[in-house]
Amino acid sequence: MKYQDYFRSRLDTLRDEGNYREFAELERHRGAYPRAKCHSGEGDVTIWCSNDYLGMGQHPDVLAAMHEALDRTGAGAGGTRNISGTTHDHVLLEAELADLHGKEAALLFTSGYVSNWAALGTLASEIPDCVVLSDALNHASMIEGIRHSRAQKVIWKHNDLEDLEAKLAALPLEQPKLIAFESVYSMDGDVAPIEAICDLADRYGAMTYLDEVHAVGLYGPRGGGLAEQLGLMDRLTVIEGTLGKAFGVVGGYIAASAELCDFVRSFASGFIFTTALPPAVAAGAAASVRHLKASCEERTVHQARVAEVRAQLDAIGLPHIENPSHIIPVMVGDPVKCKFISDTLLRDHGIYIQPINYPTVPKGTERLRITPSPVHTAQDVAKLVTALEALWTQCQLARQPIAAQ
Ligand SMILES: *Cc1c(COP(=O)(O)O)cnc(C)c1O
Repeated sequence: MKYQDYFRSRLDTLRDEGNYREFAELERHRGAYPRAKCHSGEGDVTIWCSNDYLGMGQHPDVLAAMHEALDRTGAGAGGTRNISGTTHDHVLLEAELADLHGKEAALLFTSGYVSNWAALGTLASEIPDCVVLSDALNHASMIEGIRHSRAQKVIWKHNDLEDLEAKLAALPLEQPKLIAFESVYSMDGDVAPIEAICDLADRYGAMTYLDEVHAVGLYGPRGGGLAEQLGLMDRLTVIEGTLGKAFGVVGGYIAASAELCDFVRSFASGFIFTTALPPAVAAGAAASVRHLKASCEERTVHQARVAEVRAQLDAIGLPHIENPSHIIPVMVGDPVKCKFISDTLLRDHGIYIQPINYPTVPKGTERLRITPSPVHTAQDVAKLVTALEALWTQCQLARQPIAAQ
């Protein structure tokens, strides 16, 4: 086989379909985020599509904790958790996370992706005859974990309680079941009916596994996520989260009963056979979690900024999906125009928003996914909306009727 030719032809196909991914090479300015230097263009840009939702990636407490731990313990953990990689900082972070979610225990992984892949894969494969009921729009990491387990999988229609119940009812009552879903879905920004899903789980003897990746740090009085905000944390068997988005660092985790965490710790290949996170990362993440437990300021300003961007988009009739979360999907509905707007924003306006095209979202729903943060200023918002308005006109895109003020 001509290997290089093969690679090239597959990449050419992606390009022809408009699905080839191009990266913007950025260098974030600490202390000035959302400003960053864009190495693929010229000058500074303002980032409007980051998952560092609260700007915690530059928070002084987080950086101080990382510097302190780096100087105290060195660069890496030096091994897997089993072989000398369990440091004091890892143990402290797990305690912080268990407390955040009101659970007995928590277990750290190298990323949110790995935590979903390893925890779901292990639970579904190691519990005899386990069937996983998976929401149709679950994240790739959950899908891969379930696939890897080779357990029976039943996909239920996104956020559809009737469909979930029908699928639960069709299974033998005594068969072990795991319902896997997310709290905030990152592309539409819609949220799951968590309480009703827990009610169904109780009725049909199922465990619940909730991915709170886009909610931890952001919702609830202590940043425990949507389940905390709704007073439902104790109803969930497993809460999974990331330390890489609102918490601004990197890493993933599950929080659950002591037995369940010990079970995953003992059987999950993706936990056992990989080097632990650097202690400085664990210390930084712990500082971030601790800060957001005590401070509501970031969450309050975040919500206000989101409302402000939505109101200004409404004022000029730019269509965006209404949802109860912090994610603002501005709908373009055309892959070429979506990429054009994104490219022009970056080149002419110093605004970075990654276009979201198929296969990440269905064809015809191409969009710009805007994530306002407390570190965006009113001036940033005005600049964004002015630029979008000009491009909307240039691309002859439809507008919404403007609601009476
Ligand atoms: C980003 C994401 C993950 C993975 O988390 P990382 O820490 O980035 O690996 C898991 N689930 C959902 C829904 C995500 O959006």
